[in-house]
Amino acid sequence: GTEHVAVRLEEVDHHYGGVTALRGIDLTVPQGSVLGIVGANGAGKSTLGRILHGSLSPTRGRRTAAAELRTALVPEGRALFKTLSLRENLEVAAYATGIKGAELRARLEQTAQWLPPRLRERMGVAAGGLSGGEQQILAVARALMAGPDLLIVDEPALGLSPAMVDEVYGRLGGLARDGMTVVLLEQSLARAAAAGHEVVVLHEGGVAVRGEASDPLFLARAEHAYFDGQ
Ligand code: ATP
Repeated sequence: GTEHVAVRLEEVDHHYGGVTALRGIDLTVPQGSVLGIVGANGAGKSTLGRILHGSLSPTRGRRTAAAELRTALVPEGRALFKTLSLRENLEVAAYATGIKGAELRARLEQTAQWLPPRLRERMGVAAGGLSGGEQQILAVARALMAGPDLLIVDEPALGLSPAMVDEVYGRLGGLARDGMTVVLLEQSLARAAAAGHEVVVLHEGGVAVRGEASDPLFLARAEHAYFDGQ
């Protein structure tokens, strides 16, 4: 189509030593969309996420991104500094992206506005004292400090109660409605289909199927591809 592409992967393979994590990946992420990438444990989601992010170079193939595209990754497991406060976690992320002074204060303010009020009121509290869901929201907020156009979130629902999953997904949906491109790496096809415009099923390191999340016929095919392979 004529849609604008945030990131494109062509003929991408990735190997860790003798282990093949990805093979023959051709994938576009359209700007302004939510793309759910679904796969079982070991399907290659985290590897694909890091390659889309640009922090991992594929063993073979090409990654091209829109000019000046800023990407941020929320890693699986969140990787927060548990003894640092919420504010300090956000500041560390800002230093890593090189912003300071007035720009840093503005970005902090903007990110704090995105946080739910109960977290905004606890900016001085240690991150380790937050619930799992709150830590996941903070991990997203930390990624927002990079001012991303494309946000990649690796298994945001992991270990969370259903209510917390809904809250995390609700807040990610808000970012998408504000125009951010979002890639969700998910084990749950149902969650990816509920949150995404499109769904890609990853099976044993390859793209099995891709389609519209609102198309029940596609979802039936996706379920088959997920559970039974191609
Ligand atoms: P999970 O949901 O378990 O995180 P995933 O779908 O994200 O799985 P990846 O983490 O990308 O999948 O892993 C894909 C394959 O690559 C797996 O077989 C995994 O064991 C292997 N792998 C990942 N990272 C490494 C590494 N650093 N060294 C060796 N093998 C790795």
